[in-house]
Amino acid sequence: MTAVLIDGKEIARKKRVEIADEVKELNERNIIPGLAVILVGDNQASKTYVNNKQKASKEVGMHSSLITLSDSVTEQELLEKIEELNLDSSIHGILVQLPLPAHIDEIKVIETISPEKDVDGFHPVNIGRLMTGQDAFFPCTPYGIMVMLKETGIDPEGKNVVIVGRSNIVGKPSGQLFLNENATVTYCHSKTKDLKAHTRAADILVAAVGRADLITADHIKEGAVIIDVGMNRNNSGKLCGDVSFDEVKDKAGYITPVPGGVGPMTIAMLLLNTLKSAKKALHTVPSK
Ligand code: NDP
Repeated sequence: MTAVLIDGKEIARKKRVEIADEVKELNERNIIPGLAVILVGDNQASKTYVNNKQKASKEVGMHSSLITLSDSVTEQELLEKIEELNLDSSIHGILVQLPLPAHIDEIKVIETISPEKDVDGFHPVNIGRLMTGQDAFFPCTPYGIMVMLKETGIDPEGKNVVIVGRSNIVGKPSGQLFLNENATVTYCHSKTKDLKAHTRAADILVAAVGRADLITADHIKEGAVIIDVGMNRNNSGKLCGDVSFDEVKDKAGYITPVPGGVGPMTIAMLLLNTLKSAKKALHTVPSK
């Protein structure tokens, strides 16, 4: 292996220690950062994600509230629950685990979360703030990618960054964050002609598609930084990314593993966003 492994698990662990220290400081000023997670239905993968988020928030000393609603909950009932949490001063971050059952409009749900408690960074107000370079809650996965690069000493400024995937939660906001860091950004997607021609020009390549082995050694430039967001199962049921790790690691300069790369950073950034939201409460609660 010639590439340097970017150890997302370790970087996320360090971030969580820093967050826990800041939570303690807030506790001394009578603020306990609170995260409310809403889980609708019985989706096993969603349950696992929600458990991981809850566990991580408790470990850093946050108050974590899990609201479980059945598959048959009406859209109106869900919206009312969110509005209640918007007004709850013990809750600084609200997260609705996606996907939602088909009878519920995800966009309506996201737009009902107060932008000031939208720690997932999916609300159009936060996306707009990100696009216009304002302070915002950044979506956790793109934010995690950026923090991971900075912690590794990689500065995106002036770099050619190619993002494969243009979803609202990963691809598009990742590109915007890189643009804000003065990178030159190219987006690729399912209609891109000649993917390799683009990816081979990348100094930093972000693969966020959801297809195992989409990115091979032939897709990358020697020495490139490879960020693998994908989470897939290979034929033997093992978790893997979008990048053919075993061959790409001998050509890349830096590479993230799956698991242990972007995934742990995503959860750490959720905690960071919740902390950021709670810090704002300092201005409304008198200190001891
Ligand atoms: P989406 O399915 O929403 O988006 C996938 C994107 O990939 C689309 O923009 C699609 O293009 C593009 N695409 C599909 N096929 C190709 C192809 N052959 N060549 C180039 N582009 C293609 O997925 P998400 O963005 O939600 O997630 C992407 C992956 O990242 C998934 O594996 C997911 O599990 C993982 N993930 C990991 C997280 C983590 O914390 N590690 C967090 C979130 C997601 P088009 O727009 O044209 O359809």
